[in-house]
Amino acid sequence: MACAFAQFPGTTAPPPADLKKGWDSISMNQAREILTFLANECEGRGSGQPGFQKAADYVAAHFKAWGLKPMGDNGTYFQNVPFNVSHFVDAGSSLDVLGSDKSIAAGPDFRMTTAAASSTLTGVLAVVKPGTEGTQFDDGSLQGRIVLLYGDNIPTATRMAIFRQNPMAVLTVAAKVPPAAYTSSRVSTGSANAGSRRGIRVPMGVISAKAAADLVGSLELTDATLTPGKATPVKYSRGYVRIKATVDAHQIGVPNVVALLPGSDADLSKEYIGIGGHLDHLGKQGTVIYPGADDDGSGSTAVLSIAHAMSINPKKPKRSILFMTFCGEEMGLIGSSYLVNHPMIPLDKMVSELQMDMVARDSYGAQNGDQRRIDVEKENLDTIRLVGSKRISTELDKVIQEANKCIGFKFKYDAEDVYTRSDHYNFASRGIPIAFLFDGFTPDYHQPSDTVDKIDFLKLANSAKLYYLTAYAISDNPVPPVHDVKN
Ligand SMILES: [Zn+2]
Repeated sequence: MACAFAQFPGTTAPPPADLKKGWDSISMNQAREILTFLANECEGRGSGQPGFQKAADYVAAHFKAWGLKPMGDNGTYFQNVPFNVSHFVDAGSSLDVLGSDKSIAAGPDFRMTTAAASSTLTGVLAVVKPGTEGTQFDDGSLQGRIVLLYGDNIPTATRMAIFRQNPMAVLTVAAKVPPAAYTSSRVSTGSANAGSRRGIRVPMGVISAKAAADLVGSLELTDATLTPGKATPVKYSRGYVRIKATVDAHQIGVPNVVALLPGSDADLSKEYIGIGGHLDHLGKQGTVIYPGADDDGSGSTAVLSIAHAMSINPKKPKRSILFMTFCGEEMGLIGSSYLVNHPMIPLDKMVSELQMDMVARDSYGAQNGDQRRIDVEKENLDTIRLVGSKRISTELDKVIQEANKCIGFKFKYDAEDVYTRSDHYNFASRGIPIAFLFDGFTPDYHQPSDTVDKIDFLKLANSAKLYYLTAYAISDNPVPPVHDVKN
């Protein structure tokens, strides 16, 4: 239903009459239906996890239903990007005390969480119970040791101090041992990079308090070596312990989902406008799901809304429109990087790429971790960051400003310095004019609390409408946006 309140207060013009049918189809209800599926049914859409494939199948089914042309491998909508995936396997994995019959089988009492390849680690156990004071491990006391780490809520600084010592492994004592862990990585970086997503390469595991007490009880330990001024004593085992980690590692294809609406003009249809968002998020880690409703369920939803709107609008764009939902963005823009290196269209014929990554929240709190930049939610009901729109072509920015007369966003531009932080950057690096819509930060960024109940569906629908009009405007202009900015 057309609604008088469907735009922001800053709206000054109606949409063009010949685009009205598609425009009207982009609704808050449609966005809610799509995003609810992506955020609630797909287990966080982790690249390589089953939930991502479920989301990819959903997007592909919609592209197909709307009659869009498949642009992936072998006539499908999937451009498969090679990924390594690995799972820790309980069978054949254990924690043993050498020279004794003490052995803790992998299972509810002990598991490795970041092992990316099968390995056997043998070393002296270092029992660490961080004190309340800031702890420094700057004396090599943990190097090459298997660290048994006690304490709930160990401060990040303490953890990082431990990792900097380059221990052989770190076993954290916890109330609950998580289920077998899953890791994935891009193929080009090899497989031996456990936990590298956070920049940590030390194999990590979790052990129950009961098993830890059992383990420590079976070992002869040194007396605490209390360095004056240090809050943390470290005890060492006199004998060795051994971790046997069995990992099932293999390679799979994780898809970018890509579809084309061919342009209506014989000549201009040989040029392309990309519309993109990333379908992946942080997935399921242990038992915790990261729904990624805003990041980037919202952008993926908007890509679908625009694809649907253009497919039903009687007037079609003259240039061709390439719809892209990427994999692997959260792991380092992997899917879009693969696409620009294996393009399904000539990239020098792509005249613009319009990216949406987080387009459905009203920013509040510290922006990008900067405590001097605190946003207030009610001041951001109709704001959005328009990033990079003047970096390559100032004309692209003008086209978006013109389209925005029908929507009424207040643009904040790139206050947060995020130009390099989503998939558009791979297109910008190829000299393609880009624009990136981004709603700013909230405390839910990259947390399990990025949920669908917090979504501003008006902002989501209006982001889709803005790019719907923008793509038509670029498409129908005889000349594509000029590259008028010297880099
Ligand atoms: Zn994102």
